[in-house]
Amino acid sequence: MNALNGIQPAEGSVSPHRIRLMPEVLSNKIAAGEVVQRPAAVVKELVENALDAEATRIEVRLQDSGKARILVQDNGVGMSAEDAVMGFKRHATSKIQTVDDLERLETLGFRGEALASIAAVAQVTIRTRRRDNDIGYLVEVHGGKVVRTEPCAMSPGTFVDARNLFYNVPARRNFLKTPATELKRAVMHFQALAISRPAVSFELYHNESRMYHLPAAVSEKEDDQLQERLLGLFKRRVEGDFIRVAQSTSYLSTFGFLGAACFGSKNRRDQFLFVNGRYVHSRLLGHAIASAYEGLLQEREYPFFALFMELDTSHVDVNVHPTKMEVKFDDERGVYSFVKAVCQRAIATGGLFPTIETAGAPITLPVSDLSGRAEENRGEWRSLTDRSPKRFDELTDLLYRPEPQTLTSAPDGDSRPSEHVKDTSLLWQLHDRYVFAQVRTGLLIVDQRAARERILYERSLRSIEAGSGASQQLLFPHTVELDPADFALVQEILPELSSLGFSIDNFGGHTIVMRGIPADVRQGREHEILGDLLRQYQENRSELKIIGRDNVAKSMARHGVGKGGERLSVEAMRMLIDQLFQCKCPYESPYGRATMIKVPFEELDARFMGKV
Ligand code: ADP
Ligand code: MG
Repeated sequence: MNALNGIQPAEGSVSPHRIRLMPEVLSNKIAAGEVVQRPAAVVKELVENALDAEATRIEVRLQDSGKARILVQDNGVGMSAEDAVMGFKRHATSKIQTVDDLERLETLGFRGEALASIAAVAQVTIRTRRRDNDIGYLVEVHGGKVVRTEPCAMSPGTFVDARNLFYNVPARRNFLKTPATELKRAVMHFQALAISRPAVSFELYHNESRMYHLPAAVSEKEDDQLQERLLGLFKRRVEGDFIRVAQSTSYLSTFGFLGAACFGSKNRRDQFLFVNGRYVHSRLLGHAIASAYEGLLQEREYPFFALFMELDTSHVDVNVHPTKMEVKFDDERGVYSFVKAVCQRAIATGGLFPTIETAGAPITLPVSDLSGRAEENRGEWRSLTDRSPKRFDELTDLLYRPEPQTLTSAPDGDSRPSEHVKDTSLLWQLHDRYVFAQVRTGLLIVDQRAARERILYERSLRSIEAGSGASQQLLFPHTVELDPADFALVQEILPELSSLGFSIDNFGGHTIVMRGIPADVRQGREHEILGDLLRQYQENRSELKIIGRDNVAKSMARHGVGKGGERLSVEAMRMLIDQLFQCKCPYESPYGRATMIKVPFEELDARFMGKV
């Protein structure tokens, strides 16, 4: 059996300059260089094939970052014995036949190069069985040469086992990066494909240990499915860690999730963009999205996103080069502004806020001042509109339709419908420390102290940044003699202290006079505040290595929380939750503790059934 060596080199060649057709084995090896540059590319191609084959379950196993072995098993349509051999030939594809098909592509693959390329540079065994066949078929190819074909017993689907990648191309093998880097890239492609198909179940193993187990999403709606998948992949604590985005116009529609600002990361790895269903990279849109977070992320922090964009194929060039994943739009500036504005609005108006069910008046969550930014952005839109009047006029209107200023009710059951409940006992306090609230999907437990710390931290930070902290004058100025270290520290952070509302003068030596303190310092603690603050600042500096305004704000927050629990009225509980959800990052205290835990019904049910 020699199916792969279709064209043989001409024999008895005389001149070294004579043009000859390459043996297919050689041309495949060269083509492989384009398609298969690293293990991640093999993972991508094989998983895409499984998806194209309508698999609902895909399992990927890697050994040694994929260099030693990549196995992809699916329960898709499988191949006949004939096709299993054909599939290894270059330009062998079941997916397109005519040039028109190219325009209407619905499959991920179409070039018919992947299997041939992988098999040219690895030792590949395919076992495959069509659903309507009783028996499967095995084809083994080493470096482009078929070495074994035989029937085999297996369940329907396809199993591709690619071993020793680049075993016959040492130059390529040497070109690979460290195992950690290669693994990261492979995982990234796995994640992207898993995100693109939440209804398909995925598993990933590396060296026998399971990295991901992602059951098929069960929600009905597409965006809920996507959220399920993201929660499965990124192990966030609560669904509110993701901000929903959805906006459609006749030119472009976007849909997906952004990460809450506090989950910015130090690299761009967790950024997934899909244009017309394909995972792509776009610096342009990455920048547009990041700029929508303006002021919410630390420097050199990148937001998480998983965004799907659909637009007419005539407006976008998804580069069909096998490995490049760049996209180009026919109106880059317009798309940039659209994406930025859509994301800004999503960030400003929530997605962050879960539903708090309350008695009587629902908790209203005012749109934060970010909505003002969308307003500012109008100018930008206008100027764009001037440049390309027709297309973007329409978008502008859609985007800037006046929005209600409070998010109180949403009849269609989206992320924050407020459900009216008759009973006032839906907010409840446990041991003066935890607040329990009924939410649409189950139970929300808020840690009072952590929540208060978050609220005070953000408030202090705002005061420091704006230099606008309200001050209360002390009736009797308070004179304090500080030790030299504390005195130096007060001098160092005096601008921050003043912004918070402290009014401090130097009395000579290491003595200071405190005439005013921040307005919200509790009565009876006026004389402790400065000492507390300095102590906490020093602790934060030595233990957390933070300085400056962040440290001052954290120290203020810690002081304000005080020690022990506190009895809260229902009104106070409601206010606490309300204020917490107005924070930029409501889910974590400034010291990194969770402020809340959400217990979904499913978990309660599972516990009662003894499954947890
Ligand atoms: P392409 O995906 O571009 O068509 P490939 O080289 O990746 O090219 O695959 C060649 C052909 O082999 C596909 O068109 C398909 O018919 C078949 N094939 C590959 N993988 C699978 C699979 N997992 N299940 C069923 N058929 C497959
Ligand atoms: Mg393919």
